[in-house]
Amino acid sequence: MITETILDVQFTNTTMNELVDYLTLRIDEMKRTFVVTANPEIVMYAKQDTAFRDIIKRADVVTPDGIGIIIAGKLLKMPLKERVTGYDLLHRLLSASEKKDYRIYFLGASAETIEKAVEKARTLYPKAQIVGYHDGYFSDEEAIVSDLQRLVPDIIFVGLGSPKQEKWINDHLSDFQQGLFIGVGGCFDVLAGTVKRAPIIWQKMNIEWLYRLIQEPSRWRRMMALPAFLMMFSKSVIESNELLRIKKRIKDRAQNRCTA
Ligand code: UDP
Repeated sequence: MITETILDVQFTNTTMNELVDYLTLRIDEMKRTFVVTANPEIVMYAKQDTAFRDIIKRADVVTPDGIGIIIAGKLLKMPLKERVTGYDLLHRLLSASEKKDYRIYFLGASAETIEKAVEKARTLYPKAQIVGYHDGYFSDEEAIVSDLQRLVPDIIFVGLGSPKQEKWINDHLSDFQQGLFIGVGGCFDVLAGTVKRAPIIWQKMNIEWLYRLIQEPSRWRRMMALPAFLMMFSKSVIESNELLRIKKRIKDRAQNRCTA
């Protein structure tokens, strides 16, 4: 798929519909796939941590999960087609699973939350086969891997928070021949109803982050990544504009020389 590099992260430039088609095709072809749903916090973390940046580079798909990324793309003249959030992708893939008989596994969140999330998913998508689940506070990594190898799910939603979930997927991907592994952060909490997603109007106004901050004030420290992200990207805009100006000046000079 076509990508755009925004602030050193290669984003897949796709609509949600195109992405769901692409991912379901990969599942049908029994290919192994690693999907990152990247918000500005992830971009900032990748900037600071080279090992994490390498993990993100290894992903097959990186979606822009945050309006900040979309704005950055526009201003850097590398517009991305649309925002693709982990939460929306989770629903779209569960819906596709009903038609395609995909086998689903949920990994992450507290024991109570993951049970509620599975229950909710089974209510919303009764034909989807959730073949297994486990909370995200495990110490026996091998037990989880064996469970997954035994169940052979087509889609594994990993909600351990970032960067833990991307590191976990990267560490274990080679243990599997097939499967779509996707990091979904706190989506199980939203699905279970433990954490509420912002009402549509807040989402449309692009202030979902503010709603989240009001719900979970303890996140303020993590959210400081947002202003840092904006500063970093303003610098990139200035640099890319400067580069364009220099290129134009060189071109103009060359043309002048030819016509002189
Ligand atoms: N979590 C987990 N295991 C851990 C740490 C976190 O399963 O060792 C879960 C946590 O219970 C929550 C999710 O990971 O469900 C993190 O949610 P958050 O909204 O912080 O993730 P983000 O989307 O911001 O990365």
